[in-house]
Amino acid sequence: MDCIFCEIAAGNIPAKKVFEDDDVIAFLDVNPASFGHTLVVPKQHVRNFMEADAATIGKVFGVASALGRVLQEKLGASGMNLLSNAGESAGQTVDHFHIHLIPRYDDRTQEALTLEFGPMDLDLDQVLAQIQH
Ligand code: AMP
Ligand code: ZN
Repeated sequence: MDCIFCEIAAGNIPAKKVFEDDDVIAFLDVNPASFGHTLVVPKQHVRNFMEADAATIGKVFGVASALGRVLQEKLGASGMNLLSNAGESAGQTVDHFHIHLIPRYDDRTQEALTLEFGPMDLDLDQVLAQIQH
């Protein structure tokens, strides 16, 4: 195996595990973007959320939702970002589907990330036409 998350799922590489069942494992990100940054990962190897089947998506998002509540409660987070990178251009560095659960805090010293979105100047009718073509 040359997939690090497969190795973690198989127990061959240690991780700071916060949850595990038959299909899903969740562990702390080794390079955290905030206090409690957690990765939720299906045990079965699949490259990203677009290649995962519906059952896998359901299980992984189900755990992410439940774990998000736990992190909020136990760590005192006031918000949560959920992120899944697919492809190099999107910042994916581990080619095994995973969801980032990133607790957010009113106290910004608890985090080390910036998430900024646009806006771009776009003709949305043209975008829609291309998607629907
Ligand atoms: P991405 O860039 O979306 O593919 O995210 C991969 C994440 O996995 C990064 O945030 C890494 O810090 C994290 N990571 C890589 N190797 C390990 C590991 N052995 N244990 C925990 N987290 C890891
Ligand atoms: Zn894998």
